[in-house]
Amino acid sequence: MPETPILRLENVHKSYGDTFAIHDVSLDVDRGELVCLLGPSGCGKTTLLRIIAGLESMDSGTISFDGQNVQGVTPHSRGFGLMFQDLALFPHMDVFGNVGFGLRMQGMSSDRVQMRVDEMLELVDLGNYRNRKIHELSGGERQRVALARSLAPAPKLLMLDEPLGSLDRVLRESLQVQVRSILKEIGVTAIYVTHDKDEAFALADTIVFVDRGAVVQAGPPEALFRAPATEMVARSLGLRNLIPGTIVRASDSVEVASTVGTLVAGGSPPDGMMTGDDVLVIINERGLSIAPVRHGSAGNGIELSGVINARKFRGGESEIHITVGQGEVVAIAPSNDAQSSLTAGDDIFVFVPPESITLLPPSQG
Ligand code: ADP
Repeated sequence: MPETPILRLENVHKSYGDTFAIHDVSLDVDRGELVCLLGPSGCGKTTLLRIIAGLESMDSGTISFDGQNVQGVTPHSRGFGLMFQDLALFPHMDVFGNVGFGLRMQGMSSDRVQMRVDEMLELVDLGNYRNRKIHELSGGERQRVALARSLAPAPKLLMLDEPLGSLDRVLRESLQVQVRSILKEIGVTAIYVTHDKDEAFALADTIVFVDRGAVVQAGPPEALFRAPATEMVARSLGLRNLIPGTIVRASDSVEVASTVGTLVAGGSPPDGMMTGDDVLVIINERGLSIAPVRHGSAGNGIELSGVINARKFRGGESEIHITVGQGEVVAIAPSNDAQSSLTAGDDIFVFVPPESITLLPPSQG
């Protein structure tokens, strides 16, 4: 049986004057879940976080935490932790003083503060930094001190707003992995705001994609990349196989004529669409297989013939750009797969299974 969500937002609305900042947002977060709110700047992520924290009022809607409506509960009494990009570490205190600050404010005895701070510093791998001054720390170490400080009072929910936004890319990528593993180690429920899809992908159990104040899609990162709900989500995730087409037949599957040839998707057309309608086809880059000879009758997908025009190696993967018909398809495959010797100029066949295809109404989002 699915467990009851620890945080539930129902039909939350907020406007500033006549502009909607948050429009009818409903969202469930499970205990221990790490949720990333992802979306372009100005889409309402911070406003939503501040509403959940109680720092901002909402016009209508309900928010409950652990089964209790939080309406009227002060931000402090909600017992949530916050970490912002501006870390607001106290420069005149050492690491110990910073991490223990909230605990002392709660009236915790000094013995217990010592124990808890040491435990938190071990957690963020700064066990030997207890007496360092803040100005003696690197940018990444400061972030870890700030994380330890926000985790020390054992918040029921941790909210992080672009906490790594001020760091350079390399440091940010290594901290994303650390932050995820720290949050998972203690099992805290967390909501993490970012506009960076790679960050959301590295961190999240669930990505909640926000566009113009509304949630347009929520799901595991892989699901958003595999089947984006709107063109806006697809473009924001950097997906490249966005191919215009026209529905030519719809029965138990959907046949689409497109610039790369006839494609076949499973299921039925998007709501209200029928034969003759224009459609946007999205092909999952990781759902394709390529080979120098025909794949044969594996499954009920279709096979396109094409020519590789570029192959780029990235980490353990390669990105293969293939000219097909009047268009181009990008496939991502492990660099060491059976076809790793295929290179630019080679004639190949691309197998497109129906489950790799998502159909959307054109110009949506
Ligand atoms: P994000 O965090 O996704 O960048 P925000 O939540 O900060 O977006 O902003 C959402 C929208 O609400 C923006 O259009 C922003 O200009 C507007 N907004 C946010 N705070 C205020 C405010 N205090 N007064 C008026 N408009 C605001």
